[in-house]
Amino acid sequence: ETETGDFVIDDEVIKSIFKIRNEFSHKGTYGKAAIIGGSYGKMGAVVLSTRAVLKAGAGLTFTVAPKCGYEILQTSDPEAMFIEGGKDYIENFDVEETAVCGIGPGLGTHEKTAKSLLNFLKSCSKPLILDADALNIIAQDPANLNLIPVKSIITPHPKEFERLFGKTENSFERTELAKNKSRELHIYIVLKDHHTQIITPEGKVFYNITGNSGLAKGGSGDILTGIITSFLAQKYSEHEAAILAVWFHGKAAEFASEKHSKESMLPSDVIKEFGNVFSELN
Ligand code: AMP
Ligand code: MG
Repeated sequence: ETETGDFVIDDEVIKSIFKIRNEFSHKGTYGKAAIIGGSYGKMGAVVLSTRAVLKAGAGLTFTVAPKCGYEILQTSDPEAMFIEGGKDYIENFDVEETAVCGIGPGLGTHEKTAKSLLNFLKSCSKPLILDADALNIIAQDPANLNLIPVKSIITPHPKEFERLFGKTENSFERTELAKNKSRELHIYIVLKDHHTQIITPEGKVFYNITGNSGLAKGGSGDILTGIITSFLAQKYSEHEAAILAVWFHGKAAEFASEKHSKESMLPSDVIKEFGNVFSELN
């Protein structure tokens, strides 16, 4: 705990959260996860996000994407099941009731996608992970914020945060605004930055210190969405999943930069290091 009553995510915090995989288990033990996103020309985001779900340990993984992504996804991520959610863009967000849903990577903001996302939010009572274009759609009207199911985890980068909640003068004000919004909407805000902050509905702030500038590349955030979705499917609480995932993402980036350099490492290299992070945890 810091002087300001905030928390730094250290090894102790992580040890208290991480659960060792049970030998007497089956795929049902590790839950169902679904990534919903993708649009023509942005299918890479769902490929990466889905692969991150798989490599972070979920039991069964689905990708809901437009038909134009069928071959891409089945070839790139053969362990995941494909569900057609539209033709060139997503128009249907319904997946199995019990699946944990991470929505937004590569989604696009087509009018019909926006309309069906907002309808889905209205009918949805389970917590969701909302990122990228899902947040950009929500940001189109401040009234949409109230449609976010309670206990959902949203993962805006600074620009997305500003679109959702407005401009702030500095990072201190931004954190204060995030605390107010987390409380008001009863959601978790993962404020992505060099030192990502996880803000809880109780107004607590957890600072992450893993990761590096090798993550400052398109695709890094899509992977984080996959990790959170995977951990939530594996029955970590929203609170635990958000903290563990952000730390884990940064740790994997540190392994990747050792091997490839911060310049050259790619989000797909970061995913390949998940095994090393788990080895350290186990
Ligand atoms: P996005 O902008 O959605 O692709 O998300 C970028 C991801 O990379 C977030 O998880 C950020 O926290 C992380 N990231 C980006 N730049 C840096 C940086 N300079 N240092 C540490 N993490 C970073
Ligand atoms: Mg992003």
